[in-house]
Amino acid sequence: MNSEAKVAVSGAVHAFLRRELGLFIEGEVRVAHSPRRLDVFDPATGHVLTTVPDADATDVDRAVASARTAFDTHVWRGLRPADRERTLLRLADVLEAHAEELAQMETLNQGKSINVARTIDVAATLEYVRYMAGWATKIAGETLDVSIPFPPGVRYTAFTRHEPVGVVAGIVPWNFPLMIAVWKLIPALAAGCSVVIKPSPETPVTALRLAELAVEAGVPAGVFNVVTGGAECGAALVAHPGINKISFTGSTPTGKRVGAAAVQNMTRFSLELGGKNPAVMLADIDVDQAVQGALAGAFLNQGQVCAAVSRIYVHRSKYRQVVEALADSANSMSIGPGLDPSAQINPLVSAHHRDRVEGHLARARSEGLRFLAGGTPIEQPGYYVRPAVIADVPPDAAIVRDEVFGPVLAVAPFDDAAQALRLANDSPYGLAASLWTNDLRAAMNLVPQIQAGTVWVNCHVPLDPAMPFGGYKQSGIGREFGRHAIEGFTETKSVCIAH
Ligand code: NAD
Repeated sequence: MNSEAKVAVSGAVHAFLRRELGLFIEGEVRVAHSPRRLDVFDPATGHVLTTVPDADATDVDRAVASARTAFDTHVWRGLRPADRERTLLRLADVLEAHAEELAQMETLNQGKSINVARTIDVAATLEYVRYMAGWATKIAGETLDVSIPFPPGVRYTAFTRHEPVGVVAGIVPWNFPLMIAVWKLIPALAAGCSVVIKPSPETPVTALRLAELAVEAGVPAGVFNVVTGGAECGAALVAHPGINKISFTGSTPTGKRVGAAAVQNMTRFSLELGGKNPAVMLADIDVDQAVQGALAGAFLNQGQVCAAVSRIYVHRSKYRQVVEALADSANSMSIGPGLDPSAQINPLVSAHHRDRVEGHLARARSEGLRFLAGGTPIEQPGYYVRPAVIADVPPDAAIVRDEVFGPVLAVAPFDDAAQALRLANDSPYGLAASLWTNDLRAAMNLVPQIQAGTVWVNCHVPLDPAMPFGGYKQSGIGREFGRHAIEGFTETKSVCIAH
């Protein structure tokens, strides 16, 4: 493994990690009530980077009370929409001024490539903040031409208002910690809500820094709070009666628990959950283009992407070529720490997750599946897993059905479009899919029949803040991005005036 060209970590990052990190409540770093602390690891070495509080129910109460006070006193929702927009645009500028610091923090804490951290976790996040900031001034209801007949002679005018839903709990996973926190925070703030974010216990660093930078940009104290902790803290937050909306991103099993807890208080909720996303390659593909495109969608962030390609179905006429090209590419990928910009595969987020992915691979081996790449452990510190390509997978194999969330691709052939469609849709998940073909008629025939919230054609994984994003089936409830994100953080009020 080559680690000679490693990026030097800046003094600002070291200084932040050396601090005694606390919770972020009422616009300040606060000492937690809970005495427990969580170790935060560097996945490239397995060393402890820092520690954060493991917040308890009292801490959650404080954070929710802080957000509630900010909401009820109108310090944020009472601003003119143009002033909310301007503050969020200023936040984008502040984040941009700290772009390299945030990218390095994300790489150190999550393990990902510094290239990915710079271009996606930070640069794409800035685009998202600026796009969503603009929504603050574009929230609009409708006027309704109503026909109420009584009493005679009275006319009615009705209209709708979209009002901020209240205090939002944003629960974030560990794969894109800053970016997914922002996916929740910014539309909620644009709509006038106050927010409590709970990052994943594995990757809490950038959310804590984001909160400080939000205050620097002018977001009033109490409007944006951060509590760090694990499942206990998350469960206390989602069950809290002071929360009006839960925006959750994470695994399907946890999402089900969150939804069940939310219903107890009739708290609104949206769930962005797991995926097992197929790529379907038709007979006319350019093999090189399709393979490189699918690989980029499969191994980005070591496959720890909810929308990553994890199953590839290839027309039998191109199957052998595709499988060989996938295997060659996977076997030649360089493996190293995220701070080495030349390393193509970096560590997974945690030892626990590495062991989980290796467990999936061990099971596939024990079932006699054909490995063309990967599947053998890497004996060195850090949480590395070799990229794996498994060919001729039967549709009922666990590796085809379960979300692995690692650098693992399962590949199988098909004979006609109907079979490809059956294979692609044969999953409890329905987050995303891609089609690889230049046959417009075939693509337009398949797109409406694919059970997925996003279908890409000749690409896989690009997201845009304007494109609604979310899942069919067990991949979730609701949509983020675009106007859907704003709608998710508002209540609709009908107003009817008699005159
Ligand atoms: P996870 O479900 O284990 O945890 C997600 C978050 O929920 C964490 O912050 C965790 O601490 C918290 N949590 C755990 N138990 C809780 C409870 N009972 N109540 C409230 N919160 C609780 O997921 P993960 O392992 O951190 O992330 C990986 C998963 O996230 C994968 O399944 C992936 O597909 C999914 N994901 C989905 C999307 C999407 O947009 N659809 C995006 C990224 C990741």
